[in-house]
Amino acid sequence: MARIVLKFGGTSVGDPDRIRNAARKVKAEVERGNQVAVVVSAMSGATNQLVKWVNDIAPIHDPAEYDMVVATGEQVTIGLMALALQQMGVKSRSWGSWQIPIRTDDAHAKARILAIDTGPLGAAMSGGEVPIVPGFQGVSPGGRVTTLGRGGSDTSAVALAAALGADRCDIYTDVDGVYTTDPRIVERARKIDRVTYEEMLEMASLGSKVLQTRSVELAMNHRVRVQVLSSFDAALGSDLPGTLVVDEDEIMAQGIEKSVVSGIAYSKDDAKVTVTRVADQPGVAAAIFGPLADANINVDMIVQNVSLDGSSTDITFTVPRTDLARAIQCLEKSKADLRFDAVKSDTNVAKVSVIGVGMRSHAGVALAMFRTLADKGINIQVISTSEIKISVLVAAEYTELAVRALHSAYGLDAA
Ligand code: ASP
Ligand code: MG
Repeated sequence: MARIVLKFGGTSVGDPDRIRNAARKVKAEVERGNQVAVVVSAMSGATNQLVKWVNDIAPIHDPAEYDMVVATGEQVTIGLMALALQQMGVKSRSWGSWQIPIRTDDAHAKARILAIDTGPLGAAMSGGEVPIVPGFQGVSPGGRVTTLGRGGSDTSAVALAAALGADRCDIYTDVDGVYTTDPRIVERARKIDRVTYEEMLEMASLGSKVLQTRSVELAMNHRVRVQVLSSFDAALGSDLPGTLVVDEDEIMAQGIEKSVVSGIAYSKDDAKVTVTRVADQPGVAAAIFGPLADANINVDMIVQNVSLDGSSTDITFTVPRTDLARAIQCLEKSKADLRFDAVKSDTNVAKVSVIGVGMRSHAGVALAMFRTLADKGINIQVISTSEIKISVLVAAEYTELAVRALHSAYGLDAA
């Protein structure tokens, strides 16, 4: 017998038929002899609608009341899911986040989970009941409803799995797993059977929308085994049909030879900023990036050019496109102290990344990337690396070409 948390996203509970379909998955898991807890999102579109109503009444609003309104989406689906299971003869009960309770801090609209009391919930599970828990929310120290930020129900599910010491957390969504790259761009993209936490974290933060980044962090910290799978697959309870996100050791232990590169990601969410002719002397980088950090603007890739005359240089970096205007404003404000020629920006860029834990032990991965892009005549504007990732910034119109070429070059194309 295993303990499993099943989470169903918005499209998987989008209407009564889909809720019944999800309930059948739950029932199948119960019939396999497992103890099951379920976490649900709001019906697809419901949260957007609630947010719209809040903004209609009060464009600038009290976040505690925002939370009271938007948390209701999941409160509808917990009740409906419990009813669907009862109709199928499965003992089930919905739990409000305050009944469990799921304790969070009081940062309304972006709360963090502090603790989940699993006493009563675990007892219900041991008694053969399936508890249905609302994703995306909790209760503050003052007893008010809080929400975790959009997409937060993945994080709820992983947190619950960690608290329950669950053997697995299955995240049901509308795709059947994590792919080597976006299948809309590369037809021969393959579903990955097993991926490490580290790789998934890079993929999530580099633009793969399958799992919320925070939920992957949480899973990695608490070693929660996560499976991503589709609720629209007909097979009931087949063994691990999706992508398993696990520890590198677990993958190694199975004797599976991992490819050096696991996936190719891209994002068009960044903008490039160049500060020209700043003094080439100690303290300049700190003077540029200090005010950006103070403004909470996340700088990602950075290059500093060689200075031609030994006195001044250009510094180029990327920021989220949504923060570009603020970043420019920030730099212009510090112009008097900093002294530079100009701030130039470019939004016509894409970040393309290759990811794989195999890079730690294999040389030449970066070279293969640069050669592949050169062969296609694609110019690299900025480079950044981590231990398991190489990212390059290229002109946006080359995104698809770059992703396809790299997918082939690293041997990821499906046969
Ligand atoms: N319903 C919430 C949202 O749409 C949380 C979630 O679905 O993960 O953001
Ligand atoms: Mg989601």
